[in-house]
Amino acid sequence: MPTDPSASVLQPWQRPWYWCAPGEWSTFGWVIALHLLAAAGLILLPLPSWPVLAAAGGLIALGGLGTTVVYHRALSHCALALNPLVEQALILCAVGNGSGTPRTWVAMHRLHHATSDRHDDISSPHHGGFMWSHLRWLWQADQAPSERFAKDLHGHGYRFWSRAQVPVLALSLFGGLLWPGLGGADLLTAALWLGPLRLLWALHAQCAINSICHLGEPDAEHGSSRNVWWLTPFLLGQGENWHANHHRRPSDARLGRRAQIDFGWWTISVLRVCRLASRVRLAA
Ligand SMILES: [Zn+2]
Ligand SMILES: [Zn+2]
Repeated sequence: MPTDPSASVLQPWQRPWYWCAPGEWSTFGWVIALHLLAAAGLILLPLPSWPVLAAAGGLIALGGLGTTVVYHRALSHCALALNPLVEQALILCAVGNGSGTPRTWVAMHRLHHATSDRHDDISSPHHGGFMWSHLRWLWQADQAPSERFAKDLHGHGYRFWSRAQVPVLALSLFGGLLWPGLGGADLLTAALWLGPLRLLWALHAQCAINSICHLGEPDAEHGSSRNVWWLTPFLLGQGENWHANHHRRPSDARLGRRAQIDFGWWTISVLRVCRLASRVRLAA
């Protein structure tokens, strides 16, 4: 993508929403499929049982922790180091949450910090509006080059997830069909809530950080990033919505300050007590 604002080349946010960047058809198809499956299921199937709802919530919480603790705080910003087994288990949760592979997520996120509020900040709502920053950039923007932005993640333990992503996502999408003791409409309902609806929730929860948390007018202190308190329940309290705190102190392992709920940080604290997290960085 050109970095010159005066360039005459059509920018991706100026194209129709269904246009895909080279190689991004699979992302587009995934997002469309999640919305169609979730909409059809909600119309055609009954509400789930409490155990199914609790399982869906638990999977959202685990997936979100994988993304915020490992992808974001540990790998992107090196704010902590994790026991390798814990790290791999949480990467599995993040991949199953639809967050992509460690290398792709970290590369895009480091690009975001390196270019924040500039012309080449590809997910900025100040380019193409809310829907661009919330969803469209996922399939309409070029990938950040991992050789440049995630060159420290080229070990086998990270490259492995490029091959594992498709089977993990297939299991994540359809795994509800393995729910024991259910049949007929009840089984389909469980599969819908554990698969497409859970993944749709996780998708929009993550995307809200790039869109809603960057809708502010840029200022000298924290750019366009904002702390958005009302996203706390939507993110199950995992702390990513304290985004202005994060832009002010990117290498701080703690995103919430004082009374701001941050389960990601509380999880790191427990892991540190259990000697499963180390080299935890905290800003003053
Ligand atoms: Zn940001
Ligand atoms: Zn960050």
